[in-house]
Parts: sequence; structure tokens; C-alpha cells
Amino acid sequence: MTIKLQHLIGGESLDNGDGRTFEIHSPADDSLVGIAPRGTSAEVDRAVKTAREAFATWSRMPAPARGEILMRSGRILETRKDEIAAVMGREMGKRLEEARGDIQEAIDTAYYAATEGRRLFGRTAPSELPNKFGMTIRRPIGVAGIITAWNFPIAVPSWKIYPALVCGNTVVWKPAEEAPCSGAMFAQALYDAGLPKGVLNVIHGLGEEAGASLVAHPNVSCLSFTGGTEVGKLIASEGGKTLKHISLELGGKNPVIVLEDADIDLAVDGILWGAFGTAGQRCTATSRLIAVGNVHERLLPKLIARAKELVLGDPADPKVNVGPLISKEHRDRVHSFVEKGRSEGAVMVTGGAIPTEGPLAKGWFYPATIADNVKRGSTLALREVFGPVLSVLRAKDLDEAIEIANEVEYGLSSSIYTANVNAAFRGIERIDAGITYVNAPTIGAEAHFPFGGVKGTGNGHREGGWAPYEFFSEVKTVYIDYSGGLQRAQIDNRLDD
Ligand code: NAD
Repeated sequence: MTIKLQHLIGGESLDNGDGRTFEIHSPADDSLVGIAPRGTSAEVDRAVKTAREAFATWSRMPAPARGEILMRSGRILETRKDEIAAVMGREMGKRLEEARGDIQEAIDTAYYAATEGRRLFGRTAPSELPNKFGMTIRRPIGVAGIITAWNFPIAVPSWKIYPALVCGNTVVWKPAEEAPCSGAMFAQALYDAGLPKGVLNVIHGLGEEAGASLVAHPNVSCLSFTGGTEVGKLIASEGGKTLKHISLELGGKNPVIVLEDADIDLAVDGILWGAFGTAGQRCTATSRLIAVGNVHERLLPKLIARAKELVLGDPADPKVNVGPLISKEHRDRVHSFVEKGRSEGAVMVTGGAIPTEGPLAKGWFYPATIADNVKRGSTLALREVFGPVLSVLRAKDLDEAIEIANEVEYGLSSSIYTANVNAAFRGIERIDAGITYVNAPTIGAEAHFPFGGVKGTGNGHREGGWAPYEFFSEVKTVYIDYSGGLQRAQIDNRLDD
């Protein structure tokens, strides 16, 4: 059955003014999954106007009461998890247990955000003057624009939308055009939980149309974006023209360093899951294995054997380990990285070819691929592939491994496998990344810890845990002078000795 999406503006479902639409196809077999309206600046403008109107009452509702609505939406998502996961799997190719995990992340975030409504802390500090009190309070900013990627159609939007809402902002969200169907079900859960009309508005459409209009809109006060680094740079410069607060979560080229004293079987399990889970289409996917000393002699044969066992196929089949890539264009792009790697001397020790026969030929599948002999400075060593391709590099010692880990433009996730606590702490301190795991894969963020990266991965903000509440609210400083007289600060009041 084909899903017919509509925009959600002011709590009402609407088609595009000009009737234009776009189609969503399953990456597993190219079948039609849904049809969505292709929003333009007219729909974005209407949604922003509605969100501004709704801001007047939503921002004045006590934050704990806003939190209760979010709490109820989490409970609703729990009851609809299987239904939404099936749609998510169809539209973007995630295996069902991973799709359910995506929704569970949103449920966890709902519960965290709901209680944050009782904790939007300000601070007090002693005044420098007598009979005077100083404190800070947090205020909502206005209309928050949210633009998200397809690979986590609900988890990542929930990291942004829940904190934005509990802080008292209203939202206009443009989901990724590749996977908007499950996102629409997420928005519906919030309305079914009692969200007042107009507080969350969803505009479907393409990045350069609806997305760009949202970025440029003068009445959008803050913007939170997850996607590729090049688009992120564009959004920073365009959104900067209207002085928006901008939070960017962008690409990664995540390394795992394996030392000679590591538990090899544990490392193999972690590298396989990190590199080939979600077909490598995670911003935190393990993209580089940096093998230290002679560890590759024991590690690589096991890794290659296990990678060859991974089953590629229909993500709805529980026996399948690796599902499809999101589109034909993306699959061809991933393969072009592999071809470029070959031309630069890398050797594909498993995978590296587009399947051309049987059911796999109907979709955008690519096998788990390990590229050995990848040279420092080469394409496969530096560029984000965003697919099931693991580049293997070698380092003589930990210092060289950290140098290699740090020589990319990104800095999202990282991992170090070792039994040596001193080496682990050297990695924690010196790897340029927003996240470092010890003896665990590069993927698997938990909802209540900050998430984000350094260098080309972002602009210093974090999602997850307590961090986004800072981004989605502004500090007001309050001084209360109860001396009954004029007391002057910023004047040299100190008495001479
Ligand atoms: P993308 O940048 O192409 O698209 C992301 C979103 O931006 C989509 O909704 C798209 O419509 C919109 N967009 C595109 N051009 C735009 C424009 N000019 N103006 C406004 N909006 C625009 O990214 P993608 O290919 O969908 O996703 C993959 C990328 O996302 C990878 O680089 C991945 O690492 C990154 N990602 C990062 C994180 C993180 O938290 N750091 C999480 C998931 C994905």
C-alpha cells in the first residue's frame, strides 16, 4: 500500500499549493513506498507563521506541563514501535531490530526531555553589592527550524525536537526526502499525546527547496541540522545572514585503533558491528581500522572470514545482517570510492563488487567490503564513504596510530581496543573526536549522554543528554536590588586601604 503524506501545518494535514509531489522508493527493491508533497517557500512561510502564533501560548505553558505531553508521546511510540519500524525498514532499508532501536532512542529521549522540564536550571551567585540578588533564568528562543538526514529518521529528529519543545520553542521540521514516512508517524504521536496545534509543523520536500527556504527564513530564530559537511557549511553561511543560532551535526571518518594486547575476538565483533551495521550508513560507522604493530596478522584473517559470512539482503528478513544502501546514486558513489581506492593501491580482501544477479540486483545492495593496504593520505583513508567499506591502515605504535586517527577533517566517534589502561587513557586524551569508546565499537550512542563531534563534524554543539537544552534556550540575567538606594556596579567601589 502506498503511503500518501501531507504537510502538517497548524495541526492540519495539507497538500502543496501547487500540487507538486515527490516519490519515496524502497532501496531493497525500488518499489513505491510513498508520495509526499514537495514543499516550497510558500508552505515554509505558512508553517513559520503558524509556529510563531503558537509560540505565544506554548512558551508560557509551564515547562513541566510541556514535559508531560512529551512523556505521553513516548508512551504512544512504545505501543506503535513495530508498526513504525516496518515503515522505516521499507522506506530506508534499516533492519527491523535497528529500526526498533531507532524508535526506542526517541522514546528514551522523550522520557529524558519530559523530566528536563522540571530541571531547566538557572544559577544564582552572590552579588558584589550588599542587599542585591543575582540569578539567571532560561527562556525559549522562538521558532526552531529542524533539518535532518534519512539514516536515523526518528532518533535524530527526536534529539532536536523534544529539547526544542520542552524549552518552550515551536518547531518547523523538514525531514529527509528519502525517508519522511516514519517521521510523519513520529509527529503524529506528539499530536496524539495532546500537543497544541501549530507547536510542531512538518514540511516535506527537497533540501534545496523547502530546506533552503527554512534556512533563509527571517522568523526562524534557531536552526538545528544533521547531514553532510558540505551542506552544513552552506547552512552555516546562509543561516548566518539572519543571525540564527545554528547547531550542526555532520559527517565522520571514525577510526578504531587496535593494539597488540587487545582481546582479538572482542575487537573483531566490535569492528564488524561498527563497520557493517546499518550497512555502514551511520555518521559514527567504523570507517578506518588502524592496526598497531603486528596485530593485523592475528586480527585480519578473523575479520575477513567473519565479514564473508555476513548475509546481504532484504532488511525485513531476520537472517540478514546487511541491508541495502539508500539509493542507486549512493550505491554507485560508494562503489566509485572502492574503485578509486583500487587505483590508489588498496586491495579489496572481501566485497568490492555490485551484486548483479538474483533479488539483490533489484535493489541498491553493496557487500561488506574490507580494503587492505590503504595508504595514509589516500581517498579511502580520508573521505567519508557512508557505506559498508572498512579501510585498513597500519601503524608502528600508539603514537603513530593516534596521528593517523587525527589526520582527517572530521572528529565524531573513535574507539581503542587494548588491555592497557595507560594506552586507553592516552587515546581518550589525544584522539580528536567528540566520542571515544574503549573496548567497544564506534557506534551505539546512549540518549542521556552528549553526542557530537569536533573539527569538520560540527560547530561545537552537542545533542543528547543535558547538552541541547543550552542550545534551545537563552540565558537571561536578573538583578534584584533590595537596598532601597542606587547602588552602582562597574564603578570602582573599593575603599583605599
Ligand atoms: P544531506 O546533507 O544531503 O541532507 C540532510 C538534510 O539536509 C536533508 O533533509 C536534505 O533535504 C537537507 N538539505 C540538503 N541540501 C540542503 C540545502 N541546501 N539547504 C537546506 N537543507 C538541505 O545528508 P544525507 O546524505 O541525507 O545524510 C548523510 C550525511 O549525514 C552523512 O555525511 C552523515 O555522516 C551525516 N549524519 C551526521 C549525523 C551526526 O549526528 N553527526 C547523524 C546522521 C547523519
